[in-house]
Amino acid sequence: MKLFDAHCHLQDPRILSKAPNLIKTAQDSGVVHFVVNGVSEQDWHLVKDLAQNYPSIIPSFGLHPWSLSPFILIQFIIYSFNFVKKLTYLKVLGLMKLQVPSDRILLETDAPDALPMSNIDSLFFVEGDTSLPKELHDQITSSSTSTSLSNSSQVVIDASMLSKETLNHPANIRSVLDYVASMLEITKEELAELSYQNTVRLFSYEGSKLLQK
Ligand SMILES: [Zn+2]
Repeated sequence: MKLFDAHCHLQDPRILSKAPNLIKTAQDSGVVHFVVNGVSEQDWHLVKDLAQNYPSIIPSFGLHPWSLSPFILIQFIIYSFNFVKKLTYLKVLGLMKLQVPSDRILLETDAPDALPMSNIDSLFFVEGDTSLPKELHDQITSSSTSTSLSNSSQVVIDASMLSKETLNHPANIRSVLDYVASMLEITKEELAELSYQNTVRLFSYEGSKLLQK
């Protein structure tokens, strides 16, 4: 099964030093490509470096609304209203079961943000994440092969019980896949193939790294 993470932030200072391990674990989970989104001019060079070092990384140089000055932010909201509306359309999929056209469906993690609210046994955690409860933190640190929890008997059973600061791991795209497939009532394999092809198509613009293969 091939997966394409259409949106993550591996350049984020909270996880950049761990990127090699995160990428390896995500690749072992089936992720073939990652779109790494820069959020301001200050991190574009990190995004560029990652893309040069990893064939799997597609660089995306953007401006996150949080990084804009208030004046520019207002302009951004006004001029991109239709665009934002479309994003909202997709983001509320889980709440309203809107019918998103099948050729628009992408999968993303937004790692290190947006930890899926799944059972912790099905999640991957970032090694060294100090926001984790001590037992989980110790278990992840002592595991040399994986950052997932294979035999958990913790009191914490659900990610909603964890701190809001808990870092999301890019391998958690498997949880996104499970959730979206159940929402759309299609198999995980169908969704993986569909979203992979959609993302390849979206990022196959002139000059794209994807077309250089
Ligand atoms: Zn993001």
